[in-house]
Amino acid sequence: MSGSDGGRLADSGASRGGDGSDRGVRSGADRDDRRVGEDVHASDDDVATGPELIVVGGGMAGLVAARRAALDGLRVTLLDAGDVTGGMLRAGRLGDTVIDIGAEAFATRGGAVERLLDELGLADDVVEPRRLGSWAHADGDAYRLPLAGLLGVPADPSSPEVLDALGADGARAAAADATLDAAVGLDATSLAELVRARMGDAVVARLVTPVARGVYSLDADVLDHRALAPGLGAALAETGTLAAAVQTVRAAAPPGAAIRGVRGGMHRVVRALDAELARLGVDVRTDARVDDIVATDDGWRVRLADGAELQAPRLLLTVPELAARVLDGTDDGDATAASRGAIADGDDAPSSPSAGAGVPLEEVDAIPPRRRDSTVPAEVVALLVRAPQLDAAPRGTGVLVGEPAGDVRAKALTHVSAKWPWLAASLPAGVHVLRLSYGPDEGSCVPRTRGLDVDELRALAVADASTLLGVELAADDVLALDRHEWRIPEPAARIGRGARLDELRAAATATPGLDIAGTWIDGTGLASVVPAAEHAARRLASTQSD
Ligand SMILES: Cc1cc2nc3c(=O)[nH]c(=O)nc-3n(C[C@H](O)[C@H](O)[C@H](O)COP(=O)(O)OP(=O)(O)OC[C@H]3O[C@@H](n4cnc5c(N)ncnc54)[C@H](O)[C@@H]3O)c2cc1C
Repeated sequence: MSGSDGGRLADSGASRGGDGSDRGVRSGADRDDRRVGEDVHASDDDVATGPELIVVGGGMAGLVAARRAALDGLRVTLLDAGDVTGGMLRAGRLGDTVIDIGAEAFATRGGAVERLLDELGLADDVVEPRRLGSWAHADGDAYRLPLAGLLGVPADPSSPEVLDALGADGARAAAADATLDAAVGLDATSLAELVRARMGDAVVARLVTPVARGVYSLDADVLDHRALAPGLGAALAETGTLAAAVQTVRAAAPPGAAIRGVRGGMHRVVRALDAELARLGVDVRTDARVDDIVATDDGWRVRLADGAELQAPRLLLTVPELAARVLDGTDDGDATAASRGAIADGDDAPSSPSAGAGVPLEEVDAIPPRRRDSTVPAEVVALLVRAPQLDAAPRGTGVLVGEPAGDVRAKALTHVSAKWPWLAASLPAGVHVLRLSYGPDEGSCVPRTRGLDVDELRALAVADASTLLGVELAADDVLALDRHEWRIPEPAARIGRGARLDELRAAATATPGLDIAGTWIDGTGLASVVPAAEHAARRLASTQSD
């Protein structure tokens, strides 16, 4: 990976400066406190025509940042390794029907995504999903997830839905929350520990685990509740029960906070951004994998896999392994994590802030072991099925799976055409779109569907969909199938990951002309990614290069 002539910013060896001279480079935090490009050595011609900002990665973070920087007056070049821009926002095809095979919704919290859609002329196409609720599947049976809850934790443990989901013993244990001292669970770090201490094992296994695995791709015992639901611990201390704390945190959510989509699919946002970047004169290059980055006197030299090189005084990195390599010489955005779980789908779980995150799959064998450890592999399988028995949406908008084993291998299923009326309206009567997601087997770093041919995959998906939806589907009912593999960075809420990300953030802040953005550092989902990318672009645009 490394260039023959250059050291990375964190290398202790010499790198070749933009003027051709060798110079020592130090870690980001130690680097000379110069303003970006103060010692620019590029020729007048380069200065006139070369980029003032290079953005690496053309997912939503990179696209949004490139747009903002161009609007703020910078000449921008955006580089993406894929064949199209968009990253985790990607169109899939089921015959003539175009669907999202990546992210299919956004959370309205903060308002940044809706503002962006407004600016892109898509405001009239923002749509609400049907409020059908979602289900969970565990230990061979299906049950509704209580509507009033947070991360699967019920706001009312005595509700009939909780009784239905947990049975009498489980519901009794959950209700014991009201009888415990307020201090019980206050010292817990993990979500599972907190909930187990106050509401018992059944709430963890049957309500919290399906949401944690389905939405965050991890078990609840490695998720930090303070990162997932800031304020929950303080509300527990104040109100004295976890149920009341859940109500308090829910009540504090801004009015209207919810999930929305875009008529026609979220991939339309990418096409709108592509058009806007073209209009703004941004140089967008696909099939442009960045292999190496070198700090120079002039800023940054970026080397592509095909050997081409670009130079700019400012650099924005949205790819975790490149950011970590530039900032501290490691191969990974998280050198400590061990992956577990699967795809972030079915984000309509009640009160879950948003769905998960991912990066397009590269050849897995080419991924260094440490990188494999901190990403979660998953495959999304979309089906177009002729199945009038699904007209009644028997499992609402979808099903989250507690433990994929035995009767079901999928992690989650979304009944996409039940969730989005615009899609249902575009389909013939009795035809539906389903999306299933598959994670890895224990200890594996590829989705369990890797290697299945299309017939085998269809058979597996149909069997899982039948079980999860409680209807009989046959392979012949499948009119079309599409599939896509993802590698999803582990969420920032994984216990221990926050400190690592803080380190990288601090190093980036201390490095003139460099910033980092993207789901791996800014959090799960578009509501986190979009405002952070805009902020990073503004910060870079406000630094002078001459
Ligand atoms: C299946 C799925 C469902 C999801 N559902 C939702 C949802 O419903 N709601 C929601 O809010 N969020 C959802 N998300 C998450 C959301 O899509 C992401 O948080 C967001 O799109 C991440 O954007 P990003 O730019 O940070 O990363 P990415 O989209 O991963 O973009 C990174 C880009 O970098 C490029 N790249 C990688 N390496 C290099 C390199 N060396 N050189 C150049 N380019 C490189 C990649 O090609 C990619 O285009 C979902 C994600 C997935 C996978």
